[in-house]
Amino acid sequence: MTVSLSPAAPAPSVANPSLAGKTRAEIADAMRALGLPEREIRMRVSQIWHWIYFRGARDFSEMLNVSKVLRQTLDSAFDLRLPEIVEDQVSHDGTRKWLLRLAPVDALDIHSKSLGAEVECVYIPESDRGTLCVSSQVGCTLNCSFCHTGTQKLVRNLTTAEIVGQLLVARQRLGDFPDRERPTDGLVPTGDGVRAVSNIVFMGMGEPLYNIDNVMAAIDVMADGDGLSLSKRRITVSTSGVVPQIERLGADCGPALAISLHAVRDDLRNALVPLNKKYPIEELLQACRDYPGVSNARRITFEYVMLKGVNDSPAEARELVRLLKGIPAKINLIPFNPWPGAPYECSDWETIERFSDIVFNAGYASPVRTPRGRDILAACGQLKSETEKLRARARLAAQDAAE
Ligand code: SAH
Ligand code: SF4
Repeated sequence: MTVSLSPAAPAPSVANPSLAGKTRAEIADAMRALGLPEREIRMRVSQIWHWIYFRGARDFSEMLNVSKVLRQTLDSAFDLRLPEIVEDQVSHDGTRKWLLRLAPVDALDIHSKSLGAEVECVYIPESDRGTLCVSSQVGCTLNCSFCHTGTQKLVRNLTTAEIVGQLLVARQRLGDFPDRERPTDGLVPTGDGVRAVSNIVFMGMGEPLYNIDNVMAAIDVMADGDGLSLSKRRITVSTSGVVPQIERLGADCGPALAISLHAVRDDLRNALVPLNKKYPIEELLQACRDYPGVSNARRITFEYVMLKGVNDSPAEARELVRLLKGIPAKINLIPFNPWPGAPYECSDWETIERFSDIVFNAGYASPVRTPRGRDILAACGQLKSETEKLRARARLAAQDAAE
């Protein structure tokens, strides 16, 4: 089911900067810009923080413990705008995909190329958890040969507020704030006390470690105990292997780590994940061994996409187990999600089973990831913004017309 909400709506013209998604330091700067005395700023930041992140306020008028005069001043200088949902798709398995239109970064940025940029964000409900797959960039510069996102031309980093904004949008849409109604269509976890969004994975569009500062700041906002309050153990950053940033991610922030390995030999990994030419497998695995906080209770996930006849032999399964020996690891076999024009096919089911048996017998539990949301192209590596697709369609139509 696809609901187009306002696909043709123009991006807003010059608007007040939004405070939704901002860090404490950014909100403090905003208060300073209003001329608030330094001694008052801390208290105001805590109040605004509570309203935005704990209560899900959508309007300054809701902030009842802030004086009326200040509420009016806030309203004339800022707003609480979030990325706009321009398309809401629901898969038959309950997975949802939202196409989000990002506002210009702020009023000063109105002429930048960020105008009207779009990203996708996927929500996967299960009985005992709800996982939100967020994007860290518009597109991706890395061109992994099996990934649709990598073929998108337009690329820019998301701001911290745009990353946090994806979680705020999801929680608003799912009624996941105190005193808000949850949707009754059964698309949120049913377990007692389970939040609609309990887990975050940075597996949407983009390479998070190429935008590490904003990603770490966003994780700190998401994990802040006075607000969104997600455990960092339930926030997973997936990387194609930007080795020099892995240590910093662990030491300065400490989320769970996932590595997109996909091959056990450098020659093949060079072809699948070209970044491997810069940071080969052995260097990547050493960074994993050294990841701050890694232990049997906090394992690293190794993702391995199953490509028919390319990386799916029993010998490669055995080599995978050998390579990961000594690293506290989980293995996640991902059936390849095809996209139009993809140069690969997904491995046969028997091949995946044989591969997974070898991995299982080496002591790794339930290693195959069930594909979700395939009917709405919501699965890993299929995300590519609608504007890009529309542009491509328009180009094809123009070519047809010229012939
Ligand atoms: N750039 C980061 C995170 C986003 S991609 C990374 O590469 O890890 C999230 C996951 O989807 C990665 O493991 C990626 O390799 C995988 N992926 C990409 N395209 C895919 C496809 N078509 N089918 C299955 N998995 C895919
Ligand atoms: Fe980028 Fe990850 Fe896709 Fe590779 S798999 S192109 S790093 S998003």
